[in-house]
Amino acid sequence: MEKREELYAGKAKSVFRTDDPDKMVLVFRNDTSAFDGKRIEQLDRKGMVNNKFNAFIMTKLQEAGIPTHFEKLLSDTESLVKCLDMMPVECVVRNFAAGSLCRRLGVEEGITLTPPTFELFLKNDELGDPMINESHVESFGWAKAADLAKAKELTYKVNDVLKALFAEGGMILVDYKLEFGIFNGEVVLGDEFSPDGCRLWDAETKEKLDKDRFRQGLGGVIEAYEEVGRRIGMDFDA
Ligand code: UDP
Repeated sequence: MEKREELYAGKAKSVFRTDDPDKMVLVFRNDTSAFDGKRIEQLDRKGMVNNKFNAFIMTKLQEAGIPTHFEKLLSDTESLVKCLDMMPVECVVRNFAAGSLCRRLGVEEGITLTPPTFELFLKNDELGDPMINESHVESFGWAKAADLAKAKELTYKVNDVLKALFAEGGMILVDYKLEFGIFNGEVVLGDEFSPDGCRLWDAETKEKLDKDRFRQGLGGVIEAYEEVGRRIGMDFDA
């Protein structure tokens, strides 16, 4: 496998073509952004930590029967993945209220959501990723109804697998965002799963161990990500 030219650079990752048209390389950078990219900082070790964290989680999900684009780790900051035809939507499941849900509905952070909510957001930085519904996705042709239904089913399945995994490490999975695409007609989990795209709280103290540490200027961001990894059995030096 040969790494070729850069296809595009997102806020935290860059994507490179390879000599195989079905595979690409994700490069996890140290850039950390919040508030739709209005605040960007470099955090030491972040690229390595998120690359390895994502590889660990994607492997767990694959073992649980959830198709993912992840193929293998290539280096500390690079992973080989399948090229998906991405749906331009973000699928968010919430087990507890936090973040934009609290702002939008005026509810208190931490209230339990039973059953967990499922929300969709359009990936569009200029519009600030507006909330959309399933009908919008179909009417605007962002995804086929059946593919969106599959993505929703898989998003909930991820909840079962990861709630249990984080609970074993004494943590609560508050909410998370997933992105899906199509590979050979199949709905496949793409993008990444890391503490950048989910909320994790210590089950006892409710301490935040995710990107809210960056958003809220709490400090110790990467130390918290490494702590989460250690608690679920990861070794970042491996
Ligand atoms: N999220 C994300 N990327 C986004 C928006 C949200 O990864 O562009 C994640 C976020 O980290 C959280 C969940 O999706 O785990 C729900 O985010 P929310 O809607 O509460 O928005 P926020 O408060 O992060 O703006």
